Amino acid sequence: MPASPSTYQLDEALKRYFGHDSYRPLQKEIIDETMSGRDVFALLPTGGGKSLCYQLPAIVDKGLTVVISPLIALMKDQVDGLEANGIHATYLNSSLNKTDARQRYAKLFAGDYKILYVAPERLMLSGFLEDLRQWNVSRFAVDEAHCISEWGHDFRPEYRQLSKLRNFFPDTPFMALTATATERVRNDIVLQLRLKEPKSFVASFNRPNLAYRIETKQAVFRQILKFIQSKPFESGIVYCYSRKATEQLAERLQQNGVEALPYHAGMTPKKRAENQEAFIRDECKVMCATIAFGMGIDKPNVRYVIHQDLPKNIEGYYQETGRAGRDGLPSDCLLFFSPGDVAKQLQFIAEISYPKEREVAKDQLRQMVHYAESRDCRRKVLLGYFSEEWTAGNCGNCDNCLEPKQSFDGTLPAQKFMSCIFRVSQVSSFGVGVNHIVDILLGSKNEKIRKWGHDRLSTYDIGQEHKRNEWQAFGRELIREGYIDQNAEAFGTLSLTGKGKQALRERSPIQLTRPALAAQKPAKAQASTGSIECDEDLFTTLRAVRKEIADEKGVPAYIIFSDVSLREMARDYPVNEDQLTEISGIGIKKLEAYGETFIEAIKEYLAANPDAERFNEG
Ligand code: ADP
Ligand code: ZN
Repeated sequence: MPASPSTYQLDEALKRYFGHDSYRPLQKEIIDETMSGRDVFALLPTGGGKSLCYQLPAIVDKGLTVVISPLIALMKDQVDGLEANGIHATYLNSSLNKTDARQRYAKLFAGDYKILYVAPERLMLSGFLEDLRQWNVSRFAVDEAHCISEWGHDFRPEYRQLSKLRNFFPDTPFMALTATATERVRNDIVLQLRLKEPKSFVASFNRPNLAYRIETKQAVFRQILKFIQSKPFESGIVYCYSRKATEQLAERLQQNGVEALPYHAGMTPKKRAENQEAFIRDECKVMCATIAFGMGIDKPNVRYVIHQDLPKNIEGYYQETGRAGRDGLPSDCLLFFSPGDVAKQLQFIAEISYPKEREVAKDQLRQMVHYAESRDCRRKVLLGYFSEEWTAGNCGNCDNCLEPKQSFDGTLPAQKFMSCIFRVSQVSSFGVGVNHIVDILLGSKNEKIRKWGHDRLSTYDIGQEHKRNEWQAFGRELIREGYIDQNAEAFGTLSLTGKGKQALRERSPIQLTRPALAAQKPAKAQASTGSIECDEDLFTTLRAVRKEIADEKGVPAYIIFSDVSLREMARDYPVNEDQLTEISGIGIKKLEAYGETFIEAIKEYLAANPDAERFNEG
């Protein structure tokens, strides 16, 4: 076995080809392990930098690295990105015409490429594995490796074929990479790919640059519009519950001057591809989408992900919000929450025919609601879901940490609410939901109340000191805290749990969350994690330069330079090549290709704005 390349070589290649000075967490360890010839399993969150883990070894090692990916649509962008960094790469898939494919094969036989992207079905085409044997394969990297497992959320039968690969290449190192895997899926991946005593790496799921925030859903369109208008130049995704909702939202946003498009599985593949392309190319700022959108979106500068409706489970929510801020710059995750959404979902769940499945769905929803209504740090709850402990205390980047909700002695309202449920159960043989209890407490004269005689209960009209939405919130909190049970199968009817009965009997003290103030405080100005403060005017100028080059080349803007590179330029004002190499993300190839253009743009800007350089002095 040849001596493995030194750390020096790797670090040098990192700077030379990618323009980076340091590694993201676990990248170095993963790279060292695969370079030593060992099989590797790597679980890194989205944005964790999985690609570099096989790209850097590919450059330094002799031979060809074969990357297996299910995302055919992404292959071209990935190859463009590599070529832009001066790394010879190609892909083979069904989108190529004969001549093009033949040329690529010829170059593969000639050993011209360092990296080849293929879909799993290609590997199994007759003769392909035999060809591969002649291409001096140094390593296989299986991306989105969870697709191989039936236990995962994105099982792809074609991936199962990959278990044959090992027979053909018993001694070639394998890497399995994924951003989603439970313990069970993890074991399955190792088994299915027949990894040999793999070294496993599991990174933290924390995404420090993502700010999590939950808002009460009121006039949700206004709320969304206001948020989007506060970031006129940024790209974002708004997830909606239904296909129709994506179209309606996109249309209303357009009417309000926002470049928005819909995306959902009911559209023709052509239309879907067009809209996705427009988003990636920054021609459309806002994608209004169902959860069908996102897998295979590599766009690193998605600056916000909004959930217009409550997601079904935390796993999905985490994946969807994870598409924001892959480049590490501060990005927002905003969820609009309304109790009505919970009731709606409970109704859907009640229609699921298999009891087991129904229970799972209910439990997942319960955890989601807990996340939305909890007073705890959002990050702590999210990571807890993935069995990761958050011990750092205040995260400084979620609404609950930035504007803590206060609790108060809610014994009295809790007693009123619970005894109302108890009184109803004494006179009526059926259960009632949260809203009906609130109606009784507020002395409503609606038909049901009169028909059922609930206006004669001792708890009728004893709750005027709180508003309707406050009572609803108390009710939900008591459910969450286990005092009240809400029956999903029976339209969300309420009953007291053992804990609730005991608390009612013993008048135990109960803490409740103080109702939010009517006017929301604006978020404090703060330098959030990962931020690069810079001259925003210059950043805007450079962004325009980048867009022009990207359009001319027919590639997405981020292939030219990342937002990180542009922000660093707008902070440091590099005016010669030496200074420009100091900027992160600028390797030799990009320096040659675009260095001069950007240096000129910066010089021009400085000439026109002689005061600008003060930015980084104070
Ligand atoms: P993943 O596939 O894990 O979601 P990517 O490989 O797409 O992540 O990388 C996410 C972003 O992080 C990309 O924009 C990439 O350029 C950047 N990145 C990766 N590694 C580094 C590093 N060591 N230093 C700086 N940026 C990095
Ligand atoms: Zn927090």
